[in-house]
Amino acid sequence: MVDRIPESGRARPGKNAVPAGLGHGAPQTPAQAQPGKTATPVMTVLAYIGLGSNLENPAAQLARAVAELAALPGTTLLAQSPFYASRPVGPQDQPDFVNGAVELRTELPPHRLLDHLQAIEQAHGRERLRHWGPRTLDLDLLLYGDQQLSDERLTVPHAELPNRDFVLQPLLDLNPDLSLPDGRRVDQLRAQCPDNQLRKLPPTGGSN
Ligand code: ATP
Ligand code: CA
Ligand code: CA
Repeated sequence: MVDRIPESGRARPGKNAVPAGLGHGAPQTPAQAQPGKTATPVMTVLAYIGLGSNLENPAAQLARAVAELAALPGTTLLAQSPFYASRPVGPQDQPDFVNGAVELRTELPPHRLLDHLQAIEQAHGRERLRHWGPRTLDLDLLLYGDQQLSDERLTVPHAELPNRDFVLQPLLDLNPDLSLPDGRRVDQLRAQCPDNQLRKLPPTGGSN
């Protein structure tokens, strides 16, 4: 069961809620003109963030990170997926991971959003000791509207998204009709991807 934030609890001026889906991921221009004021258009985009942790109470790390994502400037948390336990990718001599995903509507441009994701990781004591090694918190920008971009800091959609059941399943929970900007359906990718022994976890504190 996806925890979808009620409409009344998330809508605010300039943040029109729309049905989920990348078809709705193009920038929105919800600004309302006010008499005597020059309207500044506010562009918002539907973004999906993947969360992962396998150190220091992973489920609590994720729950705290969801709250921190909800508090980002210019950003509204629309929904959060259940959490899943999974076998690690890469080095196997580390604990199982807990993974999940959230759907955000945000005014933040993609690199600003990545700055915030990395700041939250740092606040959780993230250390980069080895590639795909254990971590207190990993936040990946999975999808940013229907945009495709790649530079030295940021590749969107996330490059490994099509290969990871622990990313695809939470995305499907958030939106069963989701497709990538190139048209590939997430449900079809999920059916084809390697098995990391996903196990759905019970809700933590009634929040997922
Ligand atoms: P993976 O990217 O395979 O999931 P990882 O999450 O362990 O591996 P990190 O060490 O967290 O990798 O990040 C390495 C770099 O990836 C970051 O410094 C960041 O600049 C870059 N990066 C590129 N695209 C993304 C993205 N979509 N989301 C988050 N980081 C990204
Ligand atoms: Ca990652
Ligand atoms: Ca990462």
